[in-house]
Amino acid sequence: MADELEKSFQILKQTVPLMVKHQVPAVPTNYALWYTYASQKSPDLNQQIDEALKISAQLSESKTTELYRQHLADTQELNTWQLRQSLEAMLQELNQTMQDTRKESDQFRQNMDGCLDDLAKVEKEGWTLEEVMGLVRTMVQETQGIRKSTLSFNAALASAEKEIAQLREQLAESQHDALYDALTGLRNRRYFDEELKAMLAKGDVALLLVDIDHFKNINDTYGHVMGDLVIKAVAKKLRSLCRDGADAFRYGGEEFAVLLPATPFASARHRAEGMRSAIEKINVVNRLTNESLGDVTASFGIACSANGDSPQTLIERADKQLYDAKRLGRNRVMPLAI
Ligand code: GH3
Ligand code: MG
Ligand code: MG
Repeated sequence: MADELEKSFQILKQTVPLMVKHQVPAVPTNYALWYTYASQKSPDLNQQIDEALKISAQLSESKTTELYRQHLADTQELNTWQLRQSLEAMLQELNQTMQDTRKESDQFRQNMDGCLDDLAKVEKEGWTLEEVMGLVRTMVQETQGIRKSTLSFNAALASAEKEIAQLREQLAESQHDALYDALTGLRNRRYFDEELKAMLAKGDVALLLVDIDHFKNINDTYGHVMGDLVIKAVAKKLRSLCRDGADAFRYGGEEFAVLLPATPFASARHRAEGMRSAIEKINVVNRLTNESLGDVTASFGIACSANGDSPQTLIERADKQLYDAKRLGRNRVMPLAI
């Protein structure tokens, strides 16, 4: 740990002078980019930056964005970025169509004003029928023209509306994917980190860390697909037992976390014990072979927040209790009391 810290400090010491040298604005994406450059973890990135620097001593903003997207942005960020690009392109197109239509309608108004002036002259100046017909023809043509351009603007507007609805759906989907686990439908680790931080800021919270026992054996004996079924079954059980503001999360592979806001230790332990005994009763059956998996059990570690707890200190305490539960024979909740 200390080594890691020392290493990252060394890299940071190189990062900042590099950013100063190349006059890079100090924003988070630039830090991330230049930190990765200094760490030499991504040879492709370093090569691309070196090549760009041969051409100009300063990286342009667009080049920086491109490199960040290519090497550092995760899928969620990329999806959102792409969605924003499409939305911007569409808005620009729509704006252009609107301006064109406005120009045409201004022109139309001017032409019509001209025609109306002429119309006033018809009687005064005694226009011939031929001249009057000419004027009417002009007015009809102008009206048809403006009608066409209004129609095409309406069509552009309708298709933009459709596209916006689709983009909104995609955005919601990609936001959902970023926060929910695909296998179990539970909230994922990212969601957990946010939620724990928010709950701690609001008040006290009890954290349960849950780890399926000897899960590797289940995988090895029955295969990965059955292993997945067990994870799903445990997730479903935990979720069904989350009431009164409690939330279950998939913390990692066969590990879960449950957050119980404002719950004292005795009742957190009671809830955990209920979950443990419900998991013990799960019977996973392979529908193809009718084979039953036998006992599925899990171990629990509890930590209740105290003043000054950060997410990390709370997780560390719960993790230590989980470790004890494993060490003492598994399928149990620790600690017994505080
Ligand atoms: P312990 O009782 O000490 O927790 O033992 P364990 O076997 O449960 O723990 P270990 O950490 O040794 O093994 C966990 C295994 O879970 C290893 C990994 O291959 C498996 N695993 C992680 N994620 C998944 C998943 O999504 N599906 C399946 N089928 N297996 C997974
Ligand atoms: Mg584990
Ligand atoms: Mg395990």
